Amino acid sequence: MRITMIGTGYVGLVSGACFADFGHRVTCVDTDAAKIAALHRGEMPIFEPGLDQLVEASVKAGRLDFQTDLAGPVGEADAVFIAVGTPSRRGDGHADLSYVHAAAREIAAALKGFTVVVTKSTVPVGTGDEVERIIRETNPNADVAVASNPEFLREGAAIRDFKHPDRIVVGTDDERARKAMGEVYRPLYLNQAPIMYTERRTAELIKYAANAFLATKITFINEIADLSEKVGADVQEVARGIGLDNRIGSKFLNAGPGFGGSCFPKDTRALVKTALDHDVPLRIVEAVLAVNDNRKRAMARKVAAAVGGNLRGKTVAVLGLTFKPETDDMREAPSIPLITGLLDLGAQVRAYDPVGMELAKHDLPDIAYAVDPYDCAKGADALVIVTEWVQFRALDLVRLKQEMAHPVIVDLRNIYRRDEMKALGFIYESVGRGDI
Ligand code: NAD
Repeated sequence: MRITMIGTGYVGLVSGACFADFGHRVTCVDTDAAKIAALHRGEMPIFEPGLDQLVEASVKAGRLDFQTDLAGPVGEADAVFIAVGTPSRRGDGHADLSYVHAAAREIAAALKGFTVVVTKSTVPVGTGDEVERIIRETNPNADVAVASNPEFLREGAAIRDFKHPDRIVVGTDDERARKAMGEVYRPLYLNQAPIMYTERRTAELIKYAANAFLATKITFINEIADLSEKVGADVQEVARGIGLDNRIGSKFLNAGPGFGGSCFPKDTRALVKTALDHDVPLRIVEAVLAVNDNRKRAMARKVAAAVGGNLRGKTVAVLGLTFKPETDDMREAPSIPLITGLLDLGAQVRAYDPVGMELAKHDLPDIAYAVDPYDCAKGADALVIVTEWVQFRALDLVRLKQEMAHPVIVDLRNIYRRDEMKALGFIYESVGRGDI
């Protein structure tokens, strides 16, 4: 199949490279000329494990190329995927659909022959209808079917997720589109990928409902963590105890500093707005958003409490800036409100992250950056673990303690054991593991 991917970001580049790896002929298009130039040089514009080898192999095999102009590749394509950003709209929290609409207009003008146009971006219910309307208005003669195919990959494990999906959701009632989408994903059938065909609006809602549910699960365990601290329980044991129940499941029950990232915050906000527009307030999701927003700044107060209440003039070392390990993505990372909170409380902050520091400098220009975890810990009055990068799980704790002015560790990911940290002489605070 000939596939054109519009938008070459975390989703578009991974999806395009995986489709090419399946054997399809793929062109990834992006309006960001610097991104496309980097890809032509063989450089990845994002950090995603394994992506460089995957891209290189498909480019060499002649199945993957990159362009800034969509007209040629769209004209030749059997399927055009829209994978542009849908950030929160400034001011009101609705999904900003301007990139999707612009892409639809450009695609419409370039279509030749029957083409399936597929929204892979996360878009509110009804966006497929609007994309179809724009295409028909711009190019009334286009032979087109508009389908929804939301993406569920996780950054940091994106290639594995794309190649071994729990499910593929395809929203269309057009028989030709259904057949084309079956062809696109056919190479996955050996892996028994469960394709679920549904109505377009249902597919759009599945994506938001999934993200809102996961955000709710995280927020639920975070509140149970707060209660655990107060009553002398261990939230990790509670999570294990409930997670072994198949109806609940053990994933997404890790207490921490609150969810962030490029999807959960913006998608829960957009779902709440869609629901309000239809006079169906989603009060659980609204509460999840409010609880999560408060939590991130509350983590700064937790650090203050660990050093005796006053952070003025103190140095805080922060390990981990990206919203999760194995990505360079800083969008809505919990580290940002946490560090801003620490600065507001009068602290000086020095941070280290294995890959996120370049992007972090845009959001956090007023802090110092270290070259490794030990450099970060130098002279610190407290050290906060914010992102559970694997290299932070096996730190030389004796060396770390020697570097610090005061041996205070606030572990917001519960990656260390309390008894070991205490035995080493640390004042150790974690999340939801209360002392009676
Ligand atoms: P991104 O910001 O990394 O990439 C979007 C790209 O689209 C950018 O490179 C931008 O330059 C390009 N673009 C914008 N308008 C364009 C146009 N008219 N023509 C060509 N290119 C254009 O975003 P992302 O993280 O890849 O997310 C894309 C979509 O996928 C969003 O809707 C997001 O919610 C959804 N999604 C993201 C993830 C994730 O983990 N990042 C997972 C599932 C779904």
